[in-house]
Amino acid sequence: MSEAARRYRLCQFCIDREGPGTHFDEVDGPSCSVCSGLFDRIPQAVEGAASQMRRYQFRSFTVGMTLPEGIQEKEDELRSALRLKGSETVKTQAVRLFAVLLAKKVRKPVNKLKPDLTLLVGMSDGSSSVTTRPLFYYGRYTKPPGMSQRRELCRHCSGAGCEKCSGTGYGSRQSVEWHLRRRLGAIAGSDRMTFTWMGTEDLESRVLAPGRPFIAELKNPLRRVLPKRFASRFRGKQVSVDRGRLLVSRPLRVPPFRFRTLITCTSRTAIHPDRIHELGKRFRRADVRFDRPHNRPVTKTVYSAKGSARGRRLIVEAVLDGGLPVKRFISGELVSPSVSEVLKTEVRCRSFDICEVRERGSFTYAEVTRI
Ligand SMILES: [Zn+2]
Ligand SMILES: [Zn+2]
Repeated sequence: MSEAARRYRLCQFCIDREGPGTHFDEVDGPSCSVCSGLFDRIPQAVEGAASQMRRYQFRSFTVGMTLPEGIQEKEDELRSALRLKGSETVKTQAVRLFAVLLAKKVRKPVNKLKPDLTLLVGMSDGSSSVTTRPLFYYGRYTKPPGMSQRRELCRHCSGAGCEKCSGTGYGSRQSVEWHLRRRLGAIAGSDRMTFTWMGTEDLESRVLAPGRPFIAELKNPLRRVLPKRFASRFRGKQVSVDRGRLLVSRPLRVPPFRFRTLITCTSRTAIHPDRIHELGKRFRRADVRFDRPHNRPVTKTVYSAKGSARGRRLIVEAVLDGGLPVKRFISGELVSPSVSEVLKTEVRCRSFDICEVRERGSFTYAEVTRI
């Protein structure tokens, strides 16, 4: 045994890692010059981790670990003193052994690239914490009139949080978002959610089947199975979701879409039937320009627009590109050509319903997502 090696007394685990080729005196874990018994404490920490993980639904997991202070430095010292490379680091070995034991205990495999669950264990006290990969739930909602899409800020504090809103910053009126949060949150056991909406409508708009697409990101969920359809009712109003499914990861890009809408309007003067006919002809795959406020102008397509008028009341059924505001398309405010422009009279939108939203293309994802 070399003189330098004599200064180190290692446990079985550390000998396995630093050897072979160098002889060390083998000692019990707590007397080990490098790990001070780290490896002996792993089985108990695994028990603790497994009981933490019990309330989560997951198919695979990965382990992250922090070692007690000084262990990695002691290993570095030993390796440079004895010019050893070792087969792996003390941390890699500890994580590997921990994960093997844990996989047996919870009967789930390790997946480092895309785990459902990530366990972080602090080996100084053996405590662990769990986070889970977010869920990306795609669905389509339908809604009745008199309900907004997004939850509204509290009107007393404008979102800062006050007594009236119990510090949430949001008002108590029901919205599509409120319903989705309530139901999806309860099903998945997630209290943090963000929404991506494919377009929006008015408070008074109905959204009819098959509904408007949305994506809900559910953070740190307890459960990972969500229903394809559900309905949420509250005070006589209902929001329904259909075509629900989980996306593989966060989409990089949401596809463009077009929508069919039924618009109820009033005009300043009675409309001549010839003008109604002109409306259908003018808006057949027509480009319209939208001068977006505080943004660059865009060109959108109006695929069709059919009108029927009785006196000053006008109904328009139109198929529009997503992002073209219905009310402005009617009034002509910042949009040209518009229904008002073609009918040569001032027309106002009273209300509009969303009859169909159709995606054009598919979602785009990153090649590999590392979390
Ligand atoms: Zn050791
Ligand atoms: Zn408030």
